[in-house]
Amino acid sequence: MHWTTHILVGAATGLMMKKPILSVPAGLTEHVIMDVIPHRDFQSRLGYILDTLIGIGIFTELIRFQKNSNASDAKAAVWGGISNALPDVELLLNLFEKLPREKRLFPTHNGTLPHGIEYLGMSSHVPIMLEAAATGISIFILGKRLKNSFERGA
Ligand SMILES: [Zn+2]
Repeated sequence: MHWTTHILVGAATGLMMKKPILSVPAGLTEHVIMDVIPHRDFQSRLGYILDTLIGIGIFTELIRFQKNSNASDAKAAVWGGISNALPDVELLLNLFEKLPREKRLFPTHNGTLPHGIEYLGMSSHVPIMLEAAATGISIFILGKRLKNSFERGA
């Protein structure tokens, strides 16, 4: 899935887990699950570049949120986002230098585990809907917590 989606889902899960030490293994595990479920990756460099910029923007906001809040759920959100997004850094580096599939480290990137089984006899709309649902649910969870922190002044 897209890097931005990995950051959002990892952060939302970390927020719900409330413990940074648990959000790291959860984020890495989620990355595998998200890579395996049907989805489509960008077919152009422009898509990867835009996704990377949006992800960096969201991540910057998460760090600012964490700095303004000493709550452990905010730290867990940041670590969940980092751990879920980190494996895709090796794919983003492809923008600069092609890394052969067999040299990649993460199991869903080097072929050890399947990546983005796009069509399991389903409509091409299903992968888009799955990604939209993951993104939407994560934004809802994060937005609810941010709203609460603003109301509390935390
Ligand atoms: Zn990946």
